[in-house]
Amino acid sequence: MVTDDMARDIAADVIVVGAGPAGASTAYHLAALGLDVAVLEKSEFPRDKICGDGLTPAAVHELVLMGMDTAGWTRNRGLTVHGGGHTIQMEWPDGASLPGYGMTRARMRLDHDLIRHAVAAGAHLHEGCAVTGALTDGDGRVVGVRARTGRGDQAREVTARAKIVVEAGGVSARLATSLGLEKNERRPMGVAARTYFRSPRSDEEWMVSHLELWSGEPGRSDLLPGYGWIFPMGDGTVNVGLGSVSSTARATALSYRKVFAQWTSHLPEEWGFTPANQVGPLRSAALPMSFNRKPHYIEGLVVVGDAGGMVSPFNGEGIAPALKAGRLAAAAIAQGLARTSRAGVDRALSAYPEQLRQEYGGYYSLGRIFVRLIENPQIMHLCTYYGLPHPRLMKLVNKLLSDGFERRGGDIDDRLITTLAKLVPKA
Ligand SMILES: Cc1cc2nc3c(=O)[nH]c(=O)nc-3n(C[C@H](O)[C@H](O)[C@H](O)COP(=O)(O)OP(=O)(O)OC[C@H]3O[C@@H](n4cnc5c(N)ncnc54)[C@H](O)[C@@H]3O)c2cc1C
Repeated sequence: MVTDDMARDIAADVIVVGAGPAGASTAYHLAALGLDVAVLEKSEFPRDKICGDGLTPAAVHELVLMGMDTAGWTRNRGLTVHGGGHTIQMEWPDGASLPGYGMTRARMRLDHDLIRHAVAAGAHLHEGCAVTGALTDGDGRVVGVRARTGRGDQAREVTARAKIVVEAGGVSARLATSLGLEKNERRPMGVAARTYFRSPRSDEEWMVSHLELWSGEPGRSDLLPGYGWIFPMGDGTVNVGLGSVSSTARATALSYRKVFAQWTSHLPEEWGFTPANQVGPLRSAALPMSFNRKPHYIEGLVVVGDAGGMVSPFNGEGIAPALKAGRLAAAAIAQGLARTSRAGVDRALSAYPEQLRQEYGGYYSLGRIFVRLIENPQIMHLCTYYGLPHPRLMKLVNKLLSDGFERRGGDIDDRLITTLAKLVPKA
């Protein structure tokens, strides 16, 4: 039980709720700008997160901007894609802003590395500190949070006050939801599940993706709108999982265990996917896509990462957008904190949702169209059976699906994607 005399207070320029990639990136960039930032995280590190552990070049780009030391991390060259009887290999795009390689890093380690990096830059991390609600002033402006630390007799109520609060609490987004920022049910939502296997192919330099996930008997049922992945971890294991997407938040009732068992039973034996080699259970989680929670700034509250529905509807990637959102948010917050009036703070902070819109708005709207198309099993069939054998087309598709296109300049594929993204209303 929590009593008043047990209460403790935290005060900072900025409170960040959640220390996943979005929270760690925000905290790192704020601390690097010399701001006083406190991160409140309900778990204790190292902690796991259900994930494919895949980092595209877009994510590597952000790690570079954070100054992360990635020496010794497992790198990969691109994707091997199987589907419709075809197998193709596609190198990661190597562009002006993208490094031409991806990585894998178990989230148990990645998230710990990221938050330690933020702490080394000056952020204060409070682990085992679960945020329970917002503190607002008389005008309804967010001025801090309430949180709880410890368990049983050791439970303490904590009050954390700041000029700006950042919601980085992941898909549950409890804080943002408590302030009325409901998720938009008409945006795409994914569900994905993963486990690990010990495998002799753990050191391979290609990430593998399988486009044929069947709802029932292979060849005699519908192709699901999604893919299965095998991501070599370089430590004797591979991360194996599958994800499926739906154009609305309603229809994500995938029987993922059945589909997973069936899919892995048809994979080549040399992967070693036997029950004896499995490390840990198959676990699933939701993927909030296409900005399904907005606005990304309301008075005093900034929303980053999964909490703001920032997962890509094209491939289910959420780490790169979470890291980028943290960087953009930190820059806007620093400008806001330099203002002398509330109106000035809000004007400076409005740059953050606007930049997100420019970076991802059109792209994620294209993604919504993509999801609506592949939801139709016949179109999924056409793409898999007739699209894959065309290398020229697949070069463009690779850039589109992995957010591997240059926003400014670039080649004809980059310009085609940016033009299409400009033609649709922004998400
Ligand atoms: C099966 C699966 C596979 C995936 N594979 C990939 C992949 O290969 N590559 C990729 O880029 N993305 C992948 N994703 C998506 C990716 O995992 C997320 O997009 C990413 O983790 C988002 O980061 P985040 O910081 O916004 O949220 P999270 O990583 O969820 O972090 C949120 C943090 O907030 C903390 N928190 C929550 N509530 C509170 C509270 N009330 N108080 C304090 N702390 C709180 C949590 O403990 C957590 O540490 C996958 C997702 C799934 C489900």
